[in-house]
Amino acid sequence: MNHSAPEQPAAVVARLRAAFRTGRTQPVEWRTAQLRRLREMLTDNGPELAAALHADLGKSAAEAHRTEIGFTVREIDHTLGHLTEWLRPDPAPVPEHLGADARAWTQYDPLGVVLVIAPWNYPAQLLLAPLVGALAAGNAVVVKPSELAPATSAALARLLPAYLDTNAVAVVEGGIPETTALLAERFDHIFYTGNGTVGRIVMRAAAEHLTPVTLELGGKSPAFVDRDTDLDVVADRLVRGKFLNAGQTCVAPDYVLTDPETAAALEPALARAVEAVYGPDPAASPAYSRIVNERHFDRLVGLLDSGRVVVGGGSDRATKYIAPTVLADVDPEAPVMREEIFGPLLPIVTVAGPDEAIAFVNDRDKPLALYVFSESGETRARFAAETSSGGLGYGLPLAHLTVSDLPFGGVGESGMGSYHGRYSIETFSHRKALLDKPLS
Ligand code: NAD
Repeated sequence: MNHSAPEQPAAVVARLRAAFRTGRTQPVEWRTAQLRRLREMLTDNGPELAAALHADLGKSAAEAHRTEIGFTVREIDHTLGHLTEWLRPDPAPVPEHLGADARAWTQYDPLGVVLVIAPWNYPAQLLLAPLVGALAAGNAVVVKPSELAPATSAALARLLPAYLDTNAVAVVEGGIPETTALLAERFDHIFYTGNGTVGRIVMRAAAEHLTPVTLELGGKSPAFVDRDTDLDVVADRLVRGKFLNAGQTCVAPDYVLTDPETAAALEPALARAVEAVYGPDPAASPAYSRIVNERHFDRLVGLLDSGRVVVGGGSDRATKYIAPTVLADVDPEAPVMREEIFGPLLPIVTVAGPDEAIAFVNDRDKPLALYVFSESGETRARFAAETSSGGLGYGLPLAHLTVSDLPFGGVGESGMGSYHGRYSIETFSHRKALLDKPLS
């Protein structure tokens, strides 16, 4: 479409709804064709997307490919490989009183026009992975990239319409006014990734139209380190999980819980791991990202004096650099423990052992992820049974979300609903009940 002024949200939604009503998004062939085009968009324009991600977040090209572009390509391939199987009608046993000739089954119906609102931290992946699911389920889709990652937003707004069916897929760029205008419209599903404050705004707006929502939120994801674990391995994995994207990852380990003796040994191990991964001067490491903007930079610098600095602590506002930082002796009531950190600060809070760690987790909001580093089968099983979190990772942070056959989502304050792989089909479809009783 060629407009001099951006199309108004109401017009976008009306246009997509009209297209949906024609049934053009329904055939599996349309869906798979869109997914293939999206894949081409990613493979044709990898360097441009990587450059945008570098401009927005200082992300290295390797990381952009691993965590955003390649991640989405894998999600597309997984979906293309299984879509027919996932969409197959599912027969249900029929009760006797309906007679032997009656049949019952479920089928997945597309919902209609869905809205995907994405955040800035993985601004490509977190817009495109939900889009994969929404298209695979046969919907028309409005995507709203984050205005806080402007280069990626602009790149996606230019590229997506060049590859996808613009009758049924639209990009609306903008910040709060544009999102507010979009949220006034009637959608058949809203998929929001971001913080809980805006999550509540989204859910309130959705309630006006009885629109179901998926809220992919965040929070403080704890990591418990048990005594008698190999602390060099633990430290290496914690550092890679925490400082990826300079800590701006929704499932990053937010803080460490461990006993005082283990903490004393873990501190130098973490310092060694930071140097091993990012070198003696992380500011010079091409693998290390920058903070998204000055507001978040200032907020994070304000949290730096919440404990004793084990490693890091430095920052540079001009380049929005904050060193990978480990803080020890952190009081559970310190500012760094009162909000989701969403940056490269890793506080260590000491507890007596697993009992106290479990109580600590349960005293707080249900996290998006929980990580347990323990050789004890009993301790591992206790965390699974006695705590609630979106996901639980033993021994390796972040990795559960790369398993396409696992649902990715939160619980309680960390969100509602889930997606990835077949769970995206569940999210973006209505599972319709059908009954057939022959007339003769
Ligand atoms: P953000 O500021 O980019 O906001 C997300 C979206 O909400 C944007 O598209 C933005 O335009 C929109 N928005 C902002 N204010 C709004 C308002 N008043 N009304 C309507 N829309 C509005 O991103 P953010 O929220 O800073 O992202 C960080 C948060 O997201 C963290 O809490 C993080 O843990 C969470 N997160 C969760 C996941 C997940 O998959 N569960 C992934 C990434 C980030």
